[in-house]
Amino acid sequence: MTENKTTTMNKPMTNNQTMIQYFEWNSPDDGLGWKRCAAQAKSLAESGFNMVWLPPAFKGTGSGDVGYGVYDLYDLGEFDQKGTVRTKYGTAEEYKEAVKAFQKAGIAVLADVVLNHKIGADGTEEVAAVPVNPGNRDEIVGEERTIKAWTSFTFPGRAGKYSRFTWNKNHFSGTDRDEAAGENGVYLLAGKKWNAETDPENGNFDYLMGADVDTDNPEVIEELRKWGHWYYDKIRMDGFRLDAVKHIGFAFYHDWVRDMREHAGKELFVVGEYWSPDLGRLTHYLDVQENAISLFDVPLHFHFCEASGAGGSYPMSHLFDNTLVSSRAENAVTFVDNHDTEPGQALSSFVQEWFKPLAYACILLRPAGIPCVFYGDYYGIPAFNIPPVLYLDKMVRLRSLSAYGELRDYLDDDNLIGWTLSGDEEHKGSGLAVLMTDAEAGSKRMEVGLKFAGQEFYDATEKNTEPVTIDAEGFGEFRTEGGSVAVWVPKEVYDQIRIEA
Ligand code: CA
Repeated sequence: MTENKTTTMNKPMTNNQTMIQYFEWNSPDDGLGWKRCAAQAKSLAESGFNMVWLPPAFKGTGSGDVGYGVYDLYDLGEFDQKGTVRTKYGTAEEYKEAVKAFQKAGIAVLADVVLNHKIGADGTEEVAAVPVNPGNRDEIVGEERTIKAWTSFTFPGRAGKYSRFTWNKNHFSGTDRDEAAGENGVYLLAGKKWNAETDPENGNFDYLMGADVDTDNPEVIEELRKWGHWYYDKIRMDGFRLDAVKHIGFAFYHDWVRDMREHAGKELFVVGEYWSPDLGRLTHYLDVQENAISLFDVPLHFHFCEASGAGGSYPMSHLFDNTLVSSRAENAVTFVDNHDTEPGQALSSFVQEWFKPLAYACILLRPAGIPCVFYGDYYGIPAFNIPPVLYLDKMVRLRSLSAYGELRDYLDDDNLIGWTLSGDEEHKGSGLAVLMTDAEAGSKRMEVGLKFAGQEFYDATEKNTEPVTIDAEGFGEFRTEGGSVAVWVPKEVYDQIRIEA
């Protein structure tokens, strides 16, 4: 066993890529996040992970900020700003140590980059602006007037260290508050236009929140380029998760990502958050990016969510229709839930507990796409009394041990669907058969391959205790319980994961 684990860690690229999003919204504001995750690096690698997405590391609106209320991109928990030196997760030094710990364990680190907006300005400025219709930002709904906007970011606590750049009204296109009138709304600053191409929802979805960064301004482009270089040189991450890309002019990241890769001199892995269930919008964004980045498969997440709420009537044979992983597998990062979809959050669309093991089998035990496991699913969410997802740790392990070889799909029934993987030479004992249903228990004859003829397969979830014997033609009659998933593997792998558990 120990030997096998070491092999996995030393040669991560020969094994399936598997990501974990290592945070959820309600993790404690105790400044110990970086230390906690660093302590887990080695065991996460042994469990089968080789990529981690860490939360935004820069100073937000206060110590409890999850990281998306960005105040100062150059403050990674080093300066006394917003009432705290540390961030929610700790200090800059601890962040660096955590990144190193992951990399040492063979896990690539993705840093979360939040460039759409800034929040928590140091002061207001008077600026001419027009109010626009929040439901259609192209529609001006009032006279131009002078408003008092929170657009002055001077970072007195940092006092020019790393960068002397300060932000003012020229660097933003919109804001959500006129402090003089005490009114909230969406205000377009005078002389500004929304980014030419963003998501078309609400007319033009450039504006999301806070002070909207004007990514058409050459000074902004130059500053964010310089900041990117500084950030990479300091942290040496292996890639990025880009926040809110549908709210940022599509041209911006096209250039920023290229420049970062050139600066780093390596192929940084980049995945963008384009939050839309509409596959066409995702593929359009990928086209504009010339497929240089990946996107999260949001349509697939919504299919899981719908299926989990359909009480057995979801057409399971269509689960993968119109998803990123079926149309652009090489650019798809698949996921079941994340920090935004968990209960209590703005985009809450949490996949129901009974369906979660089915959904995770769909992303972890199929060859297409890079799956991202959510912290809240792997460890549970104590704030909402949500337990860890059943069999999830086993499925992560099975992904690295078993999920190789040729795929044979049996997505041929509205309730009972399955697939097999033939395994390969490199991974001893690899190959598997997955069968799931959102309705009644059942069985299906599926082919795993002639090389398994006469062998017994066991259900790694241990719900089915009798093995399935593979017949002379390489087929087995695999079974699953109702509203459930069974993962059938050869006995040697079944025994191995039982010993590990
Ligand atoms: Ca924007």
